[in-house]
Amino acid sequence: MKIRGVRYSLKAREYTTAAGVYPYNVALFVANAHQMDKQAKALALISGGLDSLLATKVVLDEGVHVEGVNFFTGFCVEGHTHAIRKKDRERPKRNNALWVAEQLGIKLHIVDIVDEYKDVVFNPRHGYGANMNPCLDCKIFMVRKAREWIEQRGFDFVITGEVVGQRPKSQRKQSMPIVQHESGIEDRLLRPLSAQNLPPTLAEREGWIRRERMHGFSGRSRKPQMALAAHYGFADYAQPAGGCCFLTDESYSVKLRDLWDARGARQYELDDIMLLKVGRHIRPAPHFKVIVAREEGEGNFLSGYRKQYPSLTITSHGGPFALLDGAVDDDDVALAARIVGRYSQGRDAPFIELEYRTTTGETRLLRVPPLTADQMPADWLI
Ligand code: SF4
Repeated sequence: MKIRGVRYSLKAREYTTAAGVYPYNVALFVANAHQMDKQAKALALISGGLDSLLATKVVLDEGVHVEGVNFFTGFCVEGHTHAIRKKDRERPKRNNALWVAEQLGIKLHIVDIVDEYKDVVFNPRHGYGANMNPCLDCKIFMVRKAREWIEQRGFDFVITGEVVGQRPKSQRKQSMPIVQHESGIEDRLLRPLSAQNLPPTLAEREGWIRRERMHGFSGRSRKPQMALAAHYGFADYAQPAGGCCFLTDESYSVKLRDLWDARGARQYELDDIMLLKVGRHIRPAPHFKVIVAREEGEGNFLSGYRKQYPSLTITSHGGPFALLDGAVDDDDVALAARIVGRYSQGRDAPFIELEYRTTTGETRLLRVPPLTADQMPADWLI
């Protein structure tokens, strides 16, 4: 006989649920609480930060089958940046989303959305945040992608680590329903960290999770999340919340805008947005800029682009490696060489020597006087 998904045997007074065999009273509790006709399946958006880690853990504890998805936009590659710079060598070089999935013991799907995501960055309907971060449109886009994913695979709902009032634009209470409507997910979106502050969703109504086991976090304080992390024994998680996205960084955003201005169009390729994170970017003229390594690790990284960009290597003194981005003529190359000299150990020498290399590998030697401090206007530095 079967009642609400629980099969029971009068003879043994035992009840078999999807989660195991229980005595009479326990089985009824399990059946009422979880409606175990089936094990619900959820997809969690895993950014690699603490909030999505906790939100997923809360739902896993309810017995739901959870898999994770991490959308790769190209703007959130923290471990990669840490691997380049010497000063960041002590910081973890891991992929935080993979680390989170490993902590939780769930499967993680990494989905490349670099090309599709461009439209979100170029034309955010709800505008940008403090910098070039189109957070509300980004959330809508990612939840829409997650909705398509669950619909294709027969999953029941989506989990995010959003907290009411945590971010000025995308996580305001008024923004929460916008994400639901515009992504088309409606009430198949559960925010376990703030669920008690929000209307019940499908997961609560179907009994897949218990509302009283969800949380009522709100506001900008991180203390409740940190307490919950300590409760679960999670340490060494990424800080701060969702902080890997370069679009929230002021100096990165300035460089991105400069790139668009210089190209006369809102466009970028993955290499462009990677390079914006590395080196000093100096634009002495609208049609070209010089990217000067700030240290050896950056020089090694930039030299990997020698086949895509012309480059300069100082041969007479210690000094940084540099790339040139733009259509340059001989005068531009000479000016770039003088700029690079300014950052070399030969900055006070009358002349420095450099090797200029084209993208096809032809080289020529240059001998130039480094720029002096007053020859280099501050506004060249992007
Ligand atoms: S911080 Fe970046 S990844 Fe996060 S919502 Fe905003 S734009 Fe999207």
